[in-house]
Amino acid sequence: MTTISTREQHAAAPIFPGGTILGYPRIGRRRELKRALEAHWRGTIDAADFHAAASANRLADLERLRELGLRADDASIPIEAAHYDHVLDATLTFGVAPPRLRGGLPEGLAGEWLLARGHDDTAPLEMTKWLDTNYHYLVPELDAETTFSFADTRIVDRFVEAGRAGVHGRPVVVGPATYLALSKAADIRPIELAERLVPAYGALGEALAAAGATWVQLDEPALIADFDHVELAELQAVARAGAEALRAAGLRVLLHVGHGDAAGRVESLADAVDALAIDLVRGGAPATGSTPLVAGVVHGRNVWRTDLDGALERLREIAARGPVAVGTSTSLLHVPHDVAAEQSLAPRLRSWLAFADQKVAEVVALAAALTGSLDEQAFADARAAVADRAAAPGVRDGSVRARLASLPSEARQRATYDERARLQREALELPPLPTTTIGSFPQTGDIRTARARHARGELDDSGYTQVLRAEVRRVIELQEQLGLDVLVHGEPERNDMVQYFAEHFDGFAATEHGWVQSYGSRATRPSILWGDVSRAAAFTVEWIAYAQSLTSKVVKGMLTGPVTILAWSFVRDDQPLAETADQVALALADEIADLEAAGVRIVQVDEPALRELLPLRREARPAYLDWSVGAFRLATGGAAPATQIHTHLCYSEFNTVVDAIDGLDADVTSIEAARSKMEVVEALAAHGFGRGIGPGVYDIHSPRVPGHDELDELLATATAGIPEGLLWVNPDCGLKTRGYDETVASLTRLVAAARRAREAV
Ligand code: GLN
Ligand code: ZN
Repeated sequence: MTTISTREQHAAAPIFPGGTILGYPRIGRRRELKRALEAHWRGTIDAADFHAAASANRLADLERLRELGLRADDASIPIEAAHYDHVLDATLTFGVAPPRLRGGLPEGLAGEWLLARGHDDTAPLEMTKWLDTNYHYLVPELDAETTFSFADTRIVDRFVEAGRAGVHGRPVVVGPATYLALSKAADIRPIELAERLVPAYGALGEALAAAGATWVQLDEPALIADFDHVELAELQAVARAGAEALRAAGLRVLLHVGHGDAAGRVESLADAVDALAIDLVRGGAPATGSTPLVAGVVHGRNVWRTDLDGALERLREIAARGPVAVGTSTSLLHVPHDVAAEQSLAPRLRSWLAFADQKVAEVVALAAALTGSLDEQAFADARAAVADRAAAPGVRDGSVRARLASLPSEARQRATYDERARLQREALELPPLPTTTIGSFPQTGDIRTARARHARGELDDSGYTQVLRAEVRRVIELQEQLGLDVLVHGEPERNDMVQYFAEHFDGFAATEHGWVQSYGSRATRPSILWGDVSRAAAFTVEWIAYAQSLTSKVVKGMLTGPVTILAWSFVRDDQPLAETADQVALALADEIADLEAAGVRIVQVDEPALRELLPLRREARPAYLDWSVGAFRLATGGAAPATQIHTHLCYSEFNTVVDAIDGLDADVTSIEAARSKMEVVEALAAHGFGRGIGPGVYDIHSPRVPGHDELDELLATATAGIPEGLLWVNPDCGLKTRGYDETVASLTRLVAAARRAREAV
């Protein structure tokens, strides 16, 4: 019982009185970690040099956090910088080899890269989105035989490394409930493996305690989400067991939930932990008695400056009820490093922003204010910025608002599908099982070089346009040779399917250095949606029209849908997402009207992120699906009945949102299906989905060329589930990241397979 008396001694002293954060970007201020990873994978630097670079990056970040004012002596600074992914770190820490690699996982970095990236015939772990973010984690593969042990000391080593640099930090580990909830197993519900997993947390805890750690942060965001395969009570029991195992080792446990409303989900765990970190931006404060709260009043996911007055008031209310420390609502992993790097952003917009470093400073200022030393200047600056943003021109645009307020009742409603289908059949004259692609063709080094030179001013507009037109011509000629039925222009002019739109819409700004890790060494630069959105002039029409001028086959226009544009941007927080989505939808509707006027007969509106924004909580899903589907319908609702609207969905398990897919009312839906062996076809068939559907038959995430038999089998499954006349043949997704060789080989086979299938029906 000695641990209890130690805890009682601590109880009186406030925890993290200088404020704390729950995680920090790990890719590096200048993407140092990305460069080290990629250089190491290329073989330019060896393992020792990679470790040295990764370590230097971690230490530079710790130094920065101290400079920003976090305390270095009381475990306020989280220690968690994974090489590749924090879930993979847990997989390695607990020695979890996938069943297919049992006994054969190489030691050290080789094993890490094998799981992360695969090798020859060994597929990597599957990647999927972390909660409702655009960050991808590596999905642990388990089965009934899986065992766990404390097998890798990286979490301890990093704590020790920080200690040598003068930081007594707080090691972070994904908790057992979240780890198992996010795992996959063929023959067992992963959560049933908890009894085997939890002792490994105990062993980790002992090693941390022996190394001098006092606190550990257990990340359990699964506690605020709803899952189909596991109950909240099970998650709570496993999270409790994990916390108890760490406490038994003598550590104090900060249970970090974050990511949404924790009220009603964590109260029962209060006695099992030493502090609870919760999201107060998206949720309320749970009643936790005397257990201290790390109050997440600074938004960990958006890029806006915090209303410090409001946050302080909230903190004081909570402090009146029990012990409290100032924190962020989630890890800062999902925001860029530093606004100060954005020297080309308009100064006014810049003054409204807070990236990770600014958010740390906000936490520090709030913590000081809570303990009585209010920094008047910091509060005055924040007050001024928040007020300036609210009143700035462009944040509210009268004409956008008037247009949305007076939408005609049929704005989201097209003619009946039967009528549309008849007119489209006449207009398009396509063969049965028409073949097409998803939009992008390989982005060659030449295109990227030209884009970079154009951005630097070394290549003028007309030179750049010439390069791009040559590419469009080549892509059209290639598609004609391949015998595809519906052609695309290939998207060479687009750096990114969202940023390209953001650059052409009012109300958006792009950053220069605002990189956010997407997975492994990959990072994206989300645009910032700060004001009311509209479109000044058509911007995709010239490309599609040029492509169409080169061929007698039909070329489809290519747009990114409203939900995806929001999901992959940093979005304003001063109005409901639904309203912002409708503004984007109207801008897209204008573009569709211009495409139609230019003679374009098919328009694809991609919504790969439709599933991504699905709320973690079941009760919030109907409202989300309602507005997201509504926005898509607003974007496409004005299209003439003879115009064929396509949509494309990928990256996720869509089986749970088949109703919503149907609700989009697109004429043709292409959807990722190759890796899941057409699972979604079954779900759509069961639903009675009655419009065009193109389940992907070729997995573009790997350079592998699909076999003839494989394509035939996938198409046979598709023809069995989808009524004749509705089936399309296409790859899983865009070809942007592929090389030309494998693309040509794969598409040749895809067209041949479609022809064989046509004969069979
Ligand atoms: N049209 C886009 C492309 O082909 C779609 C990309 C996506 O679904 N992510 O690249
Ligand atoms: Zn896709």
